[in-house]
Amino acid sequence: MPELPEVETIRAGLEPLIVGREIKHVICHRANLRYPLPNLAALVGQSVTGMRRRSKYLLFDLASERLETSQTLVWHLGMTGQFHVLPHHAKTGTHEHVHVELSDGQSLRYRDARRFGYAGLLPSTQLESHAWFSKLGPEPLSDAFNGEHLTALCAGRKAPIKNLIMDASIVVGVGNIYASESLFRAGIHPARAAGRISSARLALLVETIKAVLAEAIEAGGSTISDFVHADGKPGYFAHQFQVYGRAGKKCLHCERTIKRITQAGRSSFLCSFCQR
Ligand SMILES: [Zn+2]
Repeated sequence: MPELPEVETIRAGLEPLIVGREIKHVICHRANLRYPLPNLAALVGQSVTGMRRRSKYLLFDLASERLETSQTLVWHLGMTGQFHVLPHHAKTGTHEHVHVELSDGQSLRYRDARRFGYAGLLPSTQLESHAWFSKLGPEPLSDAFNGEHLTALCAGRKAPIKNLIMDASIVVGVGNIYASESLFRAGIHPARAAGRISSARLALLVETIKAVLAEAIEAGGSTISDFVHADGKPGYFAHQFQVYGRAGKKCLHCERTIKRITQAGRSSFLCSFCQR
């Protein structure tokens, strides 16, 4: 499943290829993915003015001379969704469900083998109040996600810290791998009760979450062209994980054995000596 760093890489890769283009024609090869698709014929004649991301949603900002309020096409990639930009006449790929013809002769294609992706066409001013966004916490790389914010939301909580940093109402985009990695770097045991961690350690955890995600985004920067031009599959970047997936191997800090435990049905990896 594409995580926040992968979605951000896709956003950055698409931006120069689609912003400023007008949408000439849209072909939908099916009416629904996870949910029914919005009326994508309404995109024709609109121009793409910006390409943003919120949590794991791609936001295509649009403008049109005939519409009074601007719209944003919101797209979630689900498990296997991929966008590619290819010449308009390039052959339709396997599992390609949507084909958006652009004014420069290129086309934006959406492929999704498992069809868990979904989309909506919303008034741009109403995004924040929409059910998909209204309960989301801050972006992890924004200033709004800081030690004070995390400390306030952990106060009095008995839940394991790992569960809380993976809770999108506290902070978006910290998936299972990145949660394990950032807790290892911060020296915090993933099962520790969130309310029993000092504010200084939580502030350090905020910094390690930002660092782990920023490194993953940077690692993805070199693979952008694979994501959008060819058949590259979004997935976890070939990234050196310090703890994730290393059960039974030696801790990089103390050489004791990395353990795997299960929390909320997901694997956590940790060093019980380095993480308290
Ligand atoms: Zn260790």
